[in-house]
Amino acid sequence: MERVRFDTQRLNHPEIAGIEYQQGELLGYEVREYLLTKWNRQCAYCGASDVPLQVEHIHPKSKGGSNRVSNLCLACQPCNLKKGTQPIKQFLAMQLTSDLRYSVG
Ligand SMILES: [Zn+2]
Repeated sequence: MERVRFDTQRLNHPEIAGIEYQQGELLGYEVREYLLTKWNRQCAYCGASDVPLQVEHIHPKSKGGSNRVSNLCLACQPCNLKKGTQPIKQFLAMQLTSDLRYSVG
């Protein structure tokens, strides 16, 4: 069982949403814990739980997205791979398109 480092009050603290994520540092670990709590330990895209989750930039860094926590979510590996560096809107549109294609046959 992982230790939850953020209580509800800190979770909603705007200063935390403004923290910049730095992978590999203590701050990064705490931010990951914050995200796990915020997203109920589920993939932000497909809702999968009990799977390894990766910190994901909603607006890709390569497209000018920030490292701020408000730009971060959690994604399972399949979703992370599928999304790649696409903008979130394009990724969701693609999901929708493939769903439609699937239901149409
Ligand atoms: Zn997923």
